[in-house]
Amino acid sequence: MKQIAIAGAGAMGGRIGSQLKKAGFDVTLVDFWDEHIKAINEHGLEIQTETDTHYMKIDACKPEHTEKAYDLIVILTKAMQSETMVQTLLDRGAIHENTAILTMMNGLGHDERFEKIVPKSQIFLAVTMWTAGLRGPGQILLEGTGRIDLQRADGEADARTQVIADMFNQANLNAYVSDNVLQTVWTKATLNSVLNPLCTILDKTIFEFGEYPEARQQIEPIIEEIVAVAKAKGIVLNKETLVQKIEGAYPKETQGLHYPSMHQDLYHGRLTEVDYLNGQISKYGHELGIPTPNNDMLTHLIHQLEMTHVK
Ligand code: NAD
Repeated sequence: MKQIAIAGAGAMGGRIGSQLKKAGFDVTLVDFWDEHIKAINEHGLEIQTETDTHYMKIDACKPEHTEKAYDLIVILTKAMQSETMVQTLLDRGAIHENTAILTMMNGLGHDERFEKIVPKSQIFLAVTMWTAGLRGPGQILLEGTGRIDLQRADGEADARTQVIADMFNQANLNAYVSDNVLQTVWTKATLNSVLNPLCTILDKTIFEFGEYPEARQQIEPIIEEIVAVAKAKGIVLNKETLVQKIEGAYPKETQGLHYPSMHQDLYHGRLTEVDYLNGQISKYGHELGIPTPNNDMLTHLIHQLEMTHVK
């Protein structure tokens, strides 16, 4: 795999792209945001770490201007921009018949949406525990550690999966080939579907949310709906494990001091990914005849807040 595109090169795309580039791979950052592309082309990508701030020269362009065909495309737009990104890259000839299209976005159903554009055998799913921040156009903040789990979306063995994991590991991204990535995708989506909307609606950090003595009574019904929908889709989730994982995020030493990304998006006037979290649970529930009143309500409340905060 020689040519790599990071399609959606904000905070997380900037992290994956810059670490691959540093490891010697041929990486292009592809993004819709003019100002961001301009800043990267003029000054390089500004990377702030725990120890320093430095600039990296790295190719960057808009999807409608890309001239290459890529062997690996990592999708890291926000979920609502992802289908337009894949379709634009396809229209530009940037996707060939062996291109691996790896989505590392949060949320559910990305493979189902992408397979309307490209064959499912080209789609790979990844879950990342890395984090990253965007400080402004062309400026990213990289702190902490993480891991990446990946597998082909249809679950089939594919030599490219290990090749991608090896490339990520050369870039110190701590990657693992999974034999059940959907379970990991759904586990992370459950955490995000519980803490993101609740902390956003309540305008609380994860720690502040967890301080409420009856927080467990708030989170359990949401989790139970997700476990039931997952089960109907053949994915086994354990409610108690999910409760423990969520409660494990409350302490200040873990994730407690943070506002979830949905909070940051909404209060910075941006649309959230709620339709790919709680909204997607509700959609599946509706299709499968499983009631999801808690996830329905959370989706509606976030949509109401978007009407107020997103101009
Ligand atoms: P991001 O907001 O930094 O970037 C996403 C896209 O939005 C990029 O294409 C970026 O250029 C564009 N964008 C950002 N600000 C913009 C602005 N002011 N004007 C125009 N365009 C703008 O998002 P991200 O955090 O990199 O998230 C990408 C995906 O990765 C999401 O699905 C997210 O849930 C997931 N994710 C993020 C993290 C994290 O720590 N950042 C961790 C795990 C998963």
